[in-house]
Amino acid sequence: MIMEHHIPFNARQLHWSRLLEQGAKGSGGWDLLVVGGGITGAGILREAARLGLSAALLEQRDFAWGTSSRSSKMIHGGLRYLLSGDFKLVRASVKERDRLLREVTGLVEPLGFLFSHYGGRFPGPHAFGGLLSLYDLFARRSRHHYYPSPDYLFLAPHIATKGLRGGTHYQDAVTDDARLVLRTLQEACLEGATPLNYVKVESLLTAKGRVVGIHARDEINGEQGEVFARIVVNATGVWARQLRANETPGPRIRPLRGSHLVFPFWRLPVAQAISLRHPEDSRPVFIFPWEGVTIAGTTDLDHEGDLEAEPCITRREVSYLLDLVNHQFPSLGIGEEDVLSTYSGIRPVIRGGRQNPSKEKRSHTIWEQDGMISVSGGKLTTYRLMALDVLDRAAPYLPQVKPGQLPAFSQFQNDPVPTSCPRSVSMARLRLEGHYGNHAMKVMGRTGSGELERIPGTNTLWAEIRWAAKSEAVMRLEDLLLRRVRLGVLLAGGGSHHFDRIQRICREELGWNAQRWEGELAAYQKLLRECYSVPAR
Ligand SMILES: Cc1cc2nc3c(=O)[nH]c(=O)nc-3n(C[C@H](O)[C@H](O)[C@H](O)COP(=O)(O)OP(=O)(O)OC[C@H]3O[C@@H](n4cnc5c(N)ncnc54)[C@H](O)[C@@H]3O)c2cc1C
Repeated sequence: MIMEHHIPFNARQLHWSRLLEQGAKGSGGWDLLVVGGGITGAGILREAARLGLSAALLEQRDFAWGTSSRSSKMIHGGLRYLLSGDFKLVRASVKERDRLLREVTGLVEPLGFLFSHYGGRFPGPHAFGGLLSLYDLFARRSRHHYYPSPDYLFLAPHIATKGLRGGTHYQDAVTDDARLVLRTLQEACLEGATPLNYVKVESLLTAKGRVVGIHARDEINGEQGEVFARIVVNATGVWARQLRANETPGPRIRPLRGSHLVFPFWRLPVAQAISLRHPEDSRPVFIFPWEGVTIAGTTDLDHEGDLEAEPCITRREVSYLLDLVNHQFPSLGIGEEDVLSTYSGIRPVIRGGRQNPSKEKRSHTIWEQDGMISVSGGKLTTYRLMALDVLDRAAPYLPQVKPGQLPAFSQFQNDPVPTSCPRSVSMARLRLEGHYGNHAMKVMGRTGSGELERIPGTNTLWAEIRWAAKSEAVMRLEDLLLRRVRLGVLLAGGGSHHFDRIQRICREELGWNAQRWEGELAAYQKLLRECYSVPAR
């Protein structure tokens, strides 16, 4: 069924009513119901809505709360997967990278990478250049170049020089992962889809052994309801096995934790990403610039913790990442006290029986059981391909969609930001178009005094906070500061210098009184202490 009217993204109660009405027993139900509001679910919702299907998405916490706000933010082919012979994944990822660079400029941006070559260490310039030639071949463009040591040091100042022969420059891309999810959901919503955050799918409804719907609970007000659909898609990432009893057949998920350290840019200044192998175990790791800070990561470890709890970095991971920074930048004397923030995410990797977590394959898997389609694994970069694969698989249940007739992803339609805007805004113009798509103009439309300025130390405009609070289904302060904008990881104390001003915006746009603000602030600060900081010794 084609949705004729779209409901504004943040009109939560209207979306909830529509969810229940459209999904009521006997009403025909939704064409497609997606469980999980990370990039995988968002991509499926977007592509389903584009096809004119009636589609809803339910996320138990906030949109992108799971792995999709905690990645290394790279939109890349994954050079290291070439080494493991996963050519198909690399080729597909490179193509997706280039498509995203074209279609969402300002949200997916090119990023230069530098790999230093030291005497006696693998890979040397020739081997690495050969690998990159293949990588570039997939993109049909040569983008790598070798620089001998004196020239290379201009590109990578402060880098360890002992034994340095030179370095290779190549190109990939970077994004804001949570914003990519938000942008994708907004696009879906404009095409009539219904995305709801803080709605948990508690159980599945079955008839004659087939999944025909779900039982949902609104985590904000406790309301509950049954929702029927032609097809339910389980896009819950590492939680994919929990929607059904764990003993059911299907691939096993191996939850792998990856953690990052965030530094102020002035303390660890890198103009491009530094790609290197960790001195302890030779794993590929990165030190890269992002949104005005420098990030070092990632680790790759079996995650033993409770999946319901926020993942946190351990002291062992902090040492591992500090070792890597000091190995590559010994003269900077970086220590724990320099860390601005930390974050950890759990990779949904399909268990393939490898002992070393980093050797497990990163491609996605789709499986079907009792009429429910589940998808897990994969990468941020390949989310659209995953979505198309899922819809192909769902096609027999969806009369409007026939396998092989799925259209290609079309251009995002942006209203251009007028050139008459103040300089600070025209500089941020591409960013706003990329981050907010058709809403870019509205972000600037209703701003308070000085809100077209950047928040010091970030690329974020004050206007973005107001827009997010007003229009982006913010339920908690952490939604606003950790996922709509990223002040929680970009600024000391999670943005504590600006709390008064943020409070004013929340009061005006979200109607929070002093008591609500105090409660939200306390919860946010506790979360930062426990899961976004260096753990105490
Ligand atoms: C450390 C790290 C670094 C990475 N770096 C990169 C990178 O640089 N580039 C790249 O391409 N990829 C990267 N990845 C991989 C990428 O981030 C993931 O593949 C992707 O984010 C997974 O998205 P997802 O939507 O499948 O899962 P998630 O983002 O985890 O979304 C699943 C959602 O389902 C929700 N959910 C669970 N159960 C229920 C329920 N019962 N009801 C409703 N909702 C539910 C969860 O709350 C969650 O939000 C990285 C991953 C990690 C961990």
